[in-house]
Amino acid sequence: MYDVIIIGAGPAGLTAAIYLKRSNKNVLVLEATNYGGQIVNTLDIENYPGYSHISGFDLATNFYNQVRELGAIIKFEEVTEIINGKIKTINTNKGRYEAKTIIIATGRKVRKLGIEDEFIGKGVSYCAMCDGAFYKDKVVAIVGGGNSAIDDALYLADLAKKVYLIHRRDMFTADTKSVELLKKKNNIKYVLNSNITKIKGNNQLEGIEVVSKDKIKEFNIDGLFIAIGGTPNTEIFKDIVNLNDEGYIKGNNCHTNKRGIFAAGDVREKDIRQLVTATNDGATAALEAIKYLNK
Ligand code: NAP
Repeated sequence: MYDVIIIGAGPAGLTAAIYLKRSNKNVLVLEATNYGGQIVNTLDIENYPGYSHISGFDLATNFYNQVRELGAIIKFEEVTEIINGKIKTINTNKGRYEAKTIIIATGRKVRKLGIEDEFIGKGVSYCAMCDGAFYKDKVVAIVGGGNSAIDDALYLADLAKKVYLIHRRDMFTADTKSVELLKKKNNIKYVLNSNITKIKGNNQLEGIEVVSKDKIKEFNIDGLFIAIGGTPNTEIFKDIVNLNDEGYIKGNNCHTNKRGIFAAGDVREKDIRQLVTATNDGATAALEAIKYLNK
């Protein structure tokens, strides 16, 4: 019987494990794939306090080693089922575990274009705020038409020399106020009714091929930011905790609607999804779980 089972070994889950182990709790972390979550795709992180530069993989490895040194058990198993009662039962593809509390920290997966895998971290990014600074005075493109894409365009327009905003429709789906702000930037060029069909380059992005109204155009760019939405990893929790329309877990202060089940990181309904807000959630969820256990 564990005090806490944390599902997900990204920054939120691993931070929760650090706080729980330092309170002498008996902790199991279950991770379906690799530790680190989305940050392992970031080549250089410059916005995590204490590090001017660190690769996402190195930072994730530091988190992981710290958790191991504190004595948490980490198993690489995929959770397949949760049975909620006063005691929570978790089934995985390899075993069955019991805990008094659960912290869900399964994160979010970005939606992919499907043509970019070999260029991820080599000119292709899913996070303008994380990687934008590498493109100061360079030419970048953003694909997408929702709030994320527009926010990215506004952010990158202040850094890059030129920003192409590529969207498959003739109008954006982002809120009007954000779209209005685009007009104030004179280095953003719209490429509407267009789809990116190919990324060009030899081990590093050099350009893209875009199809607009049956015509193929080529753009020489230094960076491509993909902002076409994402989905939280909450499929297996949908009958356990309340989710919003987009599938994010609802609740304040890392609580869910179920006693003893907490949520941390990108999987939660919230405004800002950043590395520091994920670690912040990890600490909050752990401290709330400790309060619950000590009651
Ligand atoms: P989103 O609103 O779902 O928009 C995704 C965009 O990507 C849409 O324009 C969509 O085009 C396009 N798209 C989807 N799949 C595509 C594909 N395969 N190829 C090309 N384009 C594709 O996602 P989001 O912008 O990440 O926003 C997610 C949520 O967070 C939204 O509720 C948003 O309002 C919120 N958010 C809010 C803020 C803010 O308030 N400042 C900032 C960021 C996010 P179609 O319309 O043609 O499907």
